[in-house]
Amino acid sequence: MTESQAKTFLFEKNQNPLAASEREALLENPGFGRVFTDHMVTIRYSEGRGWHDGRIEARRAFDLDPATVVFHYAQEIFEGMKAYRLRDGGAALFRPDANARRFRNSALRLAMAPLPEDMFVQSVRELVRVDRDWIPSADGAALYLRPFMISTEVLLGVKPSSDYIYCVIASSVGSYFKGGAPAVTLWVSENYTRAAPGGTGEAKCGGNYAASLAAQAEATREGCEQVIFLDAVERRYVEELGGMNVFFLFDDGSLQTPPLTGTILPGITRDSLITLARDLGLTVREEPYAIDRWEADAKSGRLTEAFACGTAAVVTPIGQVKGRKYNFTIGSGGAGQVTGKLKAALLDIQNGRAPDPHGWIDRL
Ligand code: PMP
Repeated sequence: MTESQAKTFLFEKNQNPLAASEREALLENPGFGRVFTDHMVTIRYSEGRGWHDGRIEARRAFDLDPATVVFHYAQEIFEGMKAYRLRDGGAALFRPDANARRFRNSALRLAMAPLPEDMFVQSVRELVRVDRDWIPSADGAALYLRPFMISTEVLLGVKPSSDYIYCVIASSVGSYFKGGAPAVTLWVSENYTRAAPGGTGEAKCGGNYAASLAAQAEATREGCEQVIFLDAVERRYVEELGGMNVFFLFDDGSLQTPPLTGTILPGITRDSLITLARDLGLTVREEPYAIDRWEADAKSGRLTEAFACGTAAVVTPIGQVKGRKYNFTIGSGGAGQVTGKLKAALLDIQNGRAPDPHGWIDRL
């Protein structure tokens, strides 16, 4: 099947969709990642044949042989993006082309077959169209989309798989942090790092997240919500959280975020906030920031705000930083003014309450 043929998805409607009343009840308080829609997309890849059998069908379990490559060598990648309910009742994706590009880059890093970017965007759009009633309309709620790809060759040899399944599922979500989290406390991970130079840090592969869980569990034991990772070479520079990028705001009105040197996930929220901050007249630097500097700047008051950002968590203020050697508060320990302004600017575009000067909204 050629690329253009595979673009047409065979649609088999779910014959037993959830009743509207049950769906509405679930959408009232969906939490994060537990409420799933009626359908899913799948496209298959086989060596020699390319991408084929694009389908939208009832969400169901996969039937996979126990020797399937993904179970043993974690050749797997994913994306995370949201469909937003617009003020006028319509629906939109936010920069889906950016997710498509990152998905392709992740595939290449994991030696997987890259899905054509237009096929990625089309698959997500089609699923949202079919399951659009699952997009919640409460403030801060959205339909979280999870495109992913697994290697499906049945083989215990270590080599790139010859076959893949690409799939998109969707989940109605509310706030990522329980209670909306006015500000989070971070645990500085000194025992574990997330990504080394030359590794897979800038790819969105499941293995990165598996490797972060022990650090996250340590943070939880220490009473912190999230981990902050340092660079793997000097164990000195702040990189990112387990699933969010990080920004620092100074008393001269400038904003700083660690540069994309290969060990950090290039967040689409990060990229969007850099642009929005410049629109608001802030100076933005992409430069390394040492943890000791962070502590000194927080204590001197030079650092006024810090926040984490990502599709799931949107923009979340960082109130406190703890570690074996660290314990400091940022600003008042609560939500800062500039953080709030940036968050509002982003959400207003995503929900169609403000003009979209950068062409980020993809209306469905
Ligand atoms: N860093 C990591 C490790 C992540 O998993 C994510 C979430 N995808 C982010 C940063 C933020 O990326 P984005 O803004 O594209 O969601």
